[in-house]
Amino acid sequence: MGSYASQHCVIAIDGPAASGKSSVARKLARQLGFVYVNSGAIYRAITWHFLQTKIRPEESERIAESLDSAVLTCVVREGEARIVVDDVDPALHLRDDRVNESVSRVSKLPRVREIVSQRLHDCAEGRDVVIEGRDIGSVVFPDTPYKFYIDASPEVRLQRRAAQGERDEITVRDRDDVSRAVSPLVKAKDAHVIDTSYVTVEQVVTEIITRLEQVGLPISDVQITDRALGE
Ligand code: C5P
Repeated sequence: MGSYASQHCVIAIDGPAASGKSSVARKLARQLGFVYVNSGAIYRAITWHFLQTKIRPEESERIAESLDSAVLTCVVREGEARIVVDDVDPALHLRDDRVNESVSRVSKLPRVREIVSQRLHDCAEGRDVVIEGRDIGSVVFPDTPYKFYIDASPEVRLQRRAAQGERDEITVRDRDDVSRAVSPLVKAKDAHVIDTSYVTVEQVVTEIITRLEQVGLPISDVQITDRALGE
């Protein structure tokens, strides 16, 4: 791929729940031919694993012990990274109500964050990636020059979740994510901020690509994939 064969590139897309990160990050990755990584899905997979093993989010010591014995692998399929826990792919359960309810309490545990950060670095090893999350530009990849913070008004974000038909208390999750002691949701000081309340996914992707070019990513060298062209 273009000029990145030896030097991998990380594009960080952070922001609160239902801000439009996933749609934007997935489309951007396809358009650039990068691998799309949803770090929230890794926290969700770990949360689902604990719920399966009947460990409650409050039991931080049992969680830490169980994490040390679980095998968490990041596999890349069709341009997207997925997390497999002890050989099980929990993709179909990641947005279950009980995962929505518990994920912020699991993701605030330092040992959990450490393990997810390691897996994200594994995923990015030797690959160009677009990673979405809460702390990607601020903590996990602080040195990347390609940082974005995607936001939308609270009303719009609530409407988006309701339209998806999910029971997801995003206000509670956001409060927990912003106020936790380890790696809270913050705008990295060098992140480019985009409000997605009244713009389309395509407009946001175009703004990101323009910004990437301004900060030195030679987009014309990056292959646009067949899949992206076919969209
Ligand atoms: O992105 P999504 O809303 O699916 O993330 C689910 C939860 O995972 C968030 O509410 C947050 O608690 C946690 N998370 C995190 N750090 C990230 C990504 C997600 O703490 N980088």
